[in-house]
Amino acid sequence: MQAPTISATAEQASAAPDAIEKTPVASPAAPGAGMRSLVGLTRAGLSAALAEADVPERELRMRVAQIHHWIYHRGAKDFSEMLNVSKHLRARLEQAYTLARPEVVSEQISRDGTRKWLMRMPSTGPHDKGAEIETVYIPDSSRGTLCISSQVGCTLNCSFCHTGTQKLVRNLTSAEIVAQLMVARDQLGDWPGQERPVDNLLPSGERAVSNIVLMGMGEPLYNFENVRDAMEVAADGDGLTISRRRITLSTSGVVPEIRRAGEEIGSMLAISLHAVRNDLRDELVPLNKKYPIHELLDACRNYPGISNARRVTFEYVMLDGINDSDADARELVRLLRGMPAKINLIPFNPWPGTKYKCSDWERIERFSEIIFRAGYASPVRTPRGRDILAACGQLKSETEKLRARARLMQESGIGAEGIYGASSSDDD
Ligand code: SAH
Ligand code: SF4
Repeated sequence: MQAPTISATAEQASAAPDAIEKTPVASPAAPGAGMRSLVGLTRAGLSAALAEADVPERELRMRVAQIHHWIYHRGAKDFSEMLNVSKHLRARLEQAYTLARPEVVSEQISRDGTRKWLMRMPSTGPHDKGAEIETVYIPDSSRGTLCISSQVGCTLNCSFCHTGTQKLVRNLTSAEIVAQLMVARDQLGDWPGQERPVDNLLPSGERAVSNIVLMGMGEPLYNFENVRDAMEVAADGDGLTISRRRITLSTSGVVPEIRRAGEEIGSMLAISLHAVRNDLRDELVPLNKKYPIHELLDACRNYPGISNARRVTFEYVMLDGINDSDADARELVRLLRGMPAKINLIPFNPWPGTKYKCSDWERIERFSEIIFRAGYASPVRTPRGRDILAACGQLKSETEKLRARARLMQESGIGAEGIYGASSSDDD
């Protein structure tokens, strides 16, 4: 996932510091469990929900505006806070709906200020325990970036990505995508009048969460409508107010949806390129067999709104001896010639069982130098939150470990509090 584009030092890139905190988060039994939450709904969704609660047609627009403001601008958690909504309507809403967020199962805070939340979505039926997803927050001095998931797991099986090895896959609903942002703001005290935590580096700006990257679990363009609707909520000027220029959608290259993404989502675009030859990209990003490099780059050149001020970012993971030669760097520059582009070199984040290694620091510097001399800024993405497995491609592994531990501890009669409060140093 994207971390701010700062150049890393050799020590930073190789260091994997211990997590300094791992906070068990209480998960109170949700009042109104089983009832539908309004949190995460678009204006159209809110309107339908209010109509179902018998709000008269002529009042709908005004009521939607009020409730939307309370939920997304003020972060209200209780209908009783909505003082400009009549008591009568508040009571009716309370009977029909909740303002519940997904349950926060655990929060981990890295030494570098990165936070990772494991959230459990409400169950969707008798056989669903509720999807578990991870959302990562990456603070920097001037901005705070939230890395959001669009699917549980991913169908695409890129060979270097841990998420692709997960079996269970489903699309997140638009409300579940928005809910990740709501939970982050809750946890960071990022609503008007609330206190922010003082224990870690947080950005100096007005908002703790100022940017969104769709770089968590999943392929966002395989869940197009839900991602589009969720970003509409995120960008709404009387609500969460994250401008579309501060939202970056990363795709492994779903070519037929790229133009539509520009037109209907209007976010910045990032492409997981990772290789400059089709034979290698077929192996690293198997979707390349369907949409080869030249088709992908054509789609990028025609991305609506592309300009020098709105460049397409190309992500390139540095894999030792695989895609990191001088010739690869020169070919990368040649392929992108004439396109308003940025290149982000990502040190590979290893995970248990992977056959790849991260390129060594001298190689990354040399690669970056070739790109820089060709006129591109060539930031190397500082790995963030490695100690809590929050870095790119590491998501979900911790959840699996927690599950394994939960089983073991259940078998030996120890309660779950012990699990989430445990230090991770033994298995990182
Ligand atoms: N599915 C989308 C978005 C999620 S992946 C996509 O592939 O673009 C976000 C970024 O993390 C992608 O660029 C992906 O290639 C990269 N990534 C995945 N696994 C990684 C790993 N182990 N180390 C470093 N980057 C990784
Ligand atoms: Fe899916 Fe992206 Fe991982 Fe590929 S890199 S498996 S597309 S999440």
